[in-house]
Amino acid sequence: MLKSGFAHLADLIDCSLSSRTNLAISAGKSNKIMNGKQSKLKKPKTLGTDSNSQSELTKKEINKFFRVLSQKDPEPKTELEYSNIYTLLVAVVLSAQATDVGVNKATKNLFQRVKSPTDMVNLGESKLIEFIKTIGLYRNKAKNIIALSHRLIEEFDGTVPNNRDDLESLPGVGRKTANVIMNVAFGEPAIAVDTHIFRVSNRTGLAPGKNTLDVERRLESNVPKGYRLHAHHWLILHGRYICKARKPECLTCPISDICRFEGKII
Ligand code: SF4
Repeated sequence: MLKSGFAHLADLIDCSLSSRTNLAISAGKSNKIMNGKQSKLKKPKTLGTDSNSQSELTKKEINKFFRVLSQKDPEPKTELEYSNIYTLLVAVVLSAQATDVGVNKATKNLFQRVKSPTDMVNLGESKLIEFIKTIGLYRNKAKNIIALSHRLIEEFDGTVPNNRDDLESLPGVGRKTANVIMNVAFGEPAIAVDTHIFRVSNRTGLAPGKNTLDVERRLESNVPKGYRLHAHHWLILHGRYICKARKPECLTCPISDICRFEGKII
């Protein structure tokens, strides 16, 4: 299986159970017409956060922030398994509110049989469900995966589109999923703000914002160019393993000296 990207890809799409309890306002939905196609535009999520509205890191501190994280893990790898861009897309859709381990278990057999949208359509929804029924929301995910496979065949010659608008027009694909695909599959420095990135960005003062879109925009302007491609990987991993929602490990945190979090324990 080809592996690429970052360690826990599912975290881009998912929120940890503890952090999900912090969700304050659910995303709303609206529609807009883009490039002649109808595309979903989701209202940005406002997540509960240890807000740090009082201060923002300086440019010098931000450089140090990423220099330290990149030295610790120069080439972060994904644990989500896939064999091509289409199976990556399927895996990412499945990973919403599921773990990488759980998704990999289900896709291990699935991806031996299915490697393209045509394979998936031929498999059909009921058989797909048999492969993925251990994953949360599997019925809805199966429906979306079959529908997006049809769309890929009918509108994109069976390939995964390499732009965010077309990706977001696919069933079951939101902004975060599209950003993951743009980054991992197409090497775009897109940042998919999940609960970990949102928390770390606010706590540290890296990119404070009231909702995921605010933080995404702030990261786009604050993260130095040389660090943009892997920025979201480093932030997710830092949030997952060190700057945890309930018990941040500030004593062993490599950026504790520049972190602005008032509640840090050092
Ligand atoms: S010092 Fe603590 S709060 Fe700040 S980034 Fe590190 S773990 Fe998170």
